[in-house]
Amino acid sequence: QAKAQGRNTYRFFTDAMSRAAQLHLNLERRLRRALEQRGFVLHYQPQIDIASGRMVGCEALLRWNDPEEGLIPPNRFIPFAEESGLIVPIGDWVLETACQQARKWLDAGLPPLLVAVNLSARQLWQADLPERIAAILKQTGLPPQSLELELTESMIMGHEAQAVERLGLLRSMGLRLAIDDFGTGYSSLSYLKNLPIEVLKIDQSFVRNIPQDRNDMEISAGIIALARKLNLKVLAEGVETPEQLAFLAEQGCDSYQGYLFSRPLPVEAFEKLLLR
Ligand code: C2E
Ligand code: MG
Ligand code: MG
Ligand code: MG
Repeated sequence: QAKAQGRNTYRFFTDAMSRAAQLHLNLERRLRRALEQRGFVLHYQPQIDIASGRMVGCEALLRWNDPEEGLIPPNRFIPFAEESGLIVPIGDWVLETACQQARKWLDAGLPPLLVAVNLSARQLWQADLPERIAAILKQTGLPPQSLELELTESMIMGHEAQAVERLGLLRSMGLRLAIDDFGTGYSSLSYLKNLPIEVLKIDQSFVRNIPQDRNDMEISAGIIALARKLNLKVLAEGVETPEQLAFLAEQGCDSYQGYLFSRPLPVEAFEKLLLR
């Protein structure tokens, strides 16, 4: 009796496992097809300089335009793409497309805009990342100063020495480096001063509940003060209300992104905003 039950449990698990494996295989096939058949798009979210109120840059955010499901947000496929290694070719496509787009805006005579691209851990530690980026800059003719790479604390944690070297190389190519989702990574602050970065992006979880949550206000103010002490620029993510913006401005925050100014937009809508 017990033995039979054990076998049933076992069969139950193997069935579940092969179902999961099949789902993954299917997802991998669909992502590969998306890569080959222009199934990905970038949306662009403005970054606003608080002092002047001007758009100074934008973040390129990836979406998967699936024939069956429509637009799929990155959180639903990036973790799998990262796990399977597909993030490397997908990330190349993102870098190339964002650089091409920024070059087009320059050619159209628009004021220079910085374009920020999210990197994943796999990409950061890919041996030939610097060469890949150099090739993309050369091919698109985008000045390296116009490209910002966003990294997270967790990508660096535990590899601080290698990070100093890798980021130093990217920095020496003229690229700008930003730490995304800052404050969520539980990392020690001492590594920060050794990294050749320009910008801290305050995670939106600390901005969301301003001004209701006193702790979040203290944390945001603390990150801004820290950034200023370390001579870094600081950008707040997820700014949705004028009250939030006023508080961040008062604390000395340099720039922001968020629905208050604009959601991430498809390229045509973003260009309308640029020309306004
Ligand atoms: P992130 O880099 O922290 O991007 C900010 C996210 O906050 C975006 O979500 C954006 O749409 C959202 N957001 C912006 N303003 C507001 C606001 O005012 N309120 C709220 N509630 N949300 C706001 P999205 O586009 O869904 O991207 C989610 C995450 O996916 C990104 O977080 C980034 O970590 C990742 N991601 C996006 N594109 C790429 C990519 O090309 N490569 C990699 N590796 N990761 C990417
Ligand atoms: Mg980002
Ligand atoms: Mg973020
Ligand atoms: Mg994030």
